[in-house]
Amino acid sequence: MSIEELIEREEGFEKAQRSVKRTTSPILATLYPREEGSIFENRFLMVSFFPGRFEIFKGILPPDLEVLDLGIKVHFVSVEDEDSGEIVNKMVLCPEETNEKFRRVYGAVGEFKGKCPLCEYAQEWWDRYNERRTQKGIKGLPTEEYRIAVQQDAMLQRYRSQARKFSAISRYMFAVFDLSKYEGKKPLDAEEYCEYQILFVPESVFSGIAGFVRSFVRSGIRFWDINSLHVVSIIRDTREGFPKVKYSVAVEPRPYVPSKELREYLEAKEIPDPSPLINSWTEVFVRKAIEREEDRLVAESREEGQRVSVEVQKRDEEVKQEVAQVQPGRLPPRGVTPRVESDVSVSKADVEPSQVRVESTRVSAEEVVKSVEERVTEESLGSPIRRRLRFTKDK
Ligand SMILES: [Zn+2]
Repeated sequence: MSIEELIEREEGFEKAQRSVKRTTSPILATLYPREEGSIFENRFLMVSFFPGRFEIFKGILPPDLEVLDLGIKVHFVSVEDEDSGEIVNKMVLCPEETNEKFRRVYGAVGEFKGKCPLCEYAQEWWDRYNERRTQKGIKGLPTEEYRIAVQQDAMLQRYRSQARKFSAISRYMFAVFDLSKYEGKKPLDAEEYCEYQILFVPESVFSGIAGFVRSFVRSGIRFWDINSLHVVSIIRDTREGFPKVKYSVAVEPRPYVPSKELREYLEAKEIPDPSPLINSWTEVFVRKAIEREEDRLVAESREEGQRVSVEVQKRDEEVKQEVAQVQPGRLPPRGVTPRVESDVSVSKADVEPSQVRVESTRVSAEEVVKSVEERVTEESLGSPIRRRLRFTKDK
């Protein structure tokens, strides 16, 4: 860090330092920037915590289990918010996958009950994906060839993205104090004071932090101990737009020395219980989410179908109009250009299929034939034209 930056940071600290206090309802910590096209360094202090004492994990994790992070498995679903009516993205705990992880990693003492309907729904999409892969005969291709094959198949891509969207993914919980907020570099969310919060991070950020844990521990430093706090920075970069969000992690080598007020607050370690913010799934909640997704898919494919049929209709309409104008005794519009004698009917060359573009779609070709047949009688045109049009129809 340059001296200028340091001074700027110190000044910002002086001007905007906020006060600390435990507020009643928990608010999850957030990573900035929220919007696209920006980058922000989120400075946190991290402390160890006892997840088995949080309401949601009581009876499932041992109460004396002390961790720096807790890995859980979650689904993200879009549902209508009961209060605002807006569509919000909710994180729902996956019981089956979390049980599996808790057993393996933390020696769980209990487990979440129930089969996970979201996992089942995701599996339906994976099944469709696998079936199509088999149909296409691309299973087992070398990586690069496989990637290209998937890229060329819109349906395969759609199945896979739906399957991924609903599959359970890892999230890691940390108990953090947001220094960026405390230093006035970052706006407060819904909280009034700066306080301990629970931060959920994706796998990439977790492995970055885990790397620092290993290297600091080798030097005998536990940067999450109140007596040896170091700033953990999570830099979020949205400059390439969503969903290409990049993260990088850094831990400052020098310890952070808190003010007296902050030190007292941190030492008390009153970490708010985030349980109300981690949604346990309920049958109704999940069914609503799945129904909403199905509605969305139906609407999307209807829209797609409508768009195509409008295009076909429009093209048919143009073709019909052009053909309708090629009538005995009437001058054709520009662009159709048959050679019309004032007192003779249209000759076979005048309704050359290519001129009226009847081959645009099979449907429209048929309609054109029908419309021509209706309007132009055999007597007025003679037989050659009919044969010609029939030929177009059969093509
Ligand atoms: Zn699940």
